[in-house]
Amino acid sequence: MDNNEIKDNLCPPATKKIKIDNFGIKAILSDDYKKDIELMQVHSCQLESKQQLQAVIKELALKLPHFQHLKRVHDRNVLICPSDDIKETLEQHLKLHQISDNVLKALCRNVNVIEVPASSAKLRVQYEKMSKFWPCKFHPDKYAESLQNGSNFTDSQRAYHKRMAELLWKLSKDVSKGQNVGICVDPRRPSIVAIAGDGSSHQHCVMWLVDHVARSQRGGAWQSDVEFVKDEPHTKSTLSGLPQIFYDYLKQDAACQDLSLGAELPRREEQQQQSEPVVEDIHADNLCKYGPYLCTGYDVYLLREPCLMCSMALVHSRVKRIFFLEQSENGALTSKFQLHAVKELNHHYEVFQFTM
Ligand SMILES: [Zn+2]
Repeated sequence: MDNNEIKDNLCPPATKKIKIDNFGIKAILSDDYKKDIELMQVHSCQLESKQQLQAVIKELALKLPHFQHLKRVHDRNVLICPSDDIKETLEQHLKLHQISDNVLKALCRNVNVIEVPASSAKLRVQYEKMSKFWPCKFHPDKYAESLQNGSNFTDSQRAYHKRMAELLWKLSKDVSKGQNVGICVDPRRPSIVAIAGDGSSHQHCVMWLVDHVARSQRGGAWQSDVEFVKDEPHTKSTLSGLPQIFYDYLKQDAACQDLSLGAELPRREEQQQQSEPVVEDIHADNLCKYGPYLCTGYDVYLLREPCLMCSMALVHSRVKRIFFLEQSENGALTSKFQLHAVKELNHHYEVFQFTM
């Protein structure tokens, strides 16, 4: 396994060129990362002296534990509770929550209603805007930051993604009569596992691609008149997810000679046992641990943004990342929906759009 590859993905070094020429890779992040700051009205007060702080904070933390995303105190100003929570007067509200007389007296002087951020910041840029209203707590997510500013890929990774983007164009134009094309890649080597076009039937290219990946794992349910590459006996990897027509094109194209082709064969049960570490590492890549299973750990490159049905098929297939070039009218990853941002789904892939 290429440890550097995975490390690069998770912890990008600080110094990184963001762009090679005009080719760009934009992460499609969920709206949580882009939304404007929402504010809420809050009752606050200014304490008479700093000596009161300790007792006030201790009691508020216990009896009115609001504002986990904010600092509770700023100079002598204290956040008491959301204004919406107060049904009658502040004093009654505090009594209702069994605030002691001393603290209650301190809190009911110099009361103001102010606006503070209603939720926590996901990105530093949001945090900086929010802090203008009230001091916030912030736990930077380095990976999310790198996705947002485009520094999550190394130069060699970007170069490979760019080659795949160009290959999508070429395969569509030269082999698939301008129709959609999909490429599935095992990013560890990286190596092309399967390729599919829209074909002559009504099925979409992604549905074929998922089936072609299954072929590389000795499965594949769909009948088609497509001819596939046949493996040599005793081979260590398989080309059986590649239709002959795409394979021949890659073999005759001088620019594609150095591209690695083929998938790791599915492991037998005893091999899986051997490679399973004794201590469960939740961060270990399941593809490395257990070998190929559906599209686990694989990347999918598509000429066109997939529709809802295809996007859902890619969720079921456990794809790691999706890269696409063109938006489509009924696309489900940015144009019409953001399927990968639906929290309730049991698998989430990352989504990137190529810009050229
Ligand atoms: Zn579709």
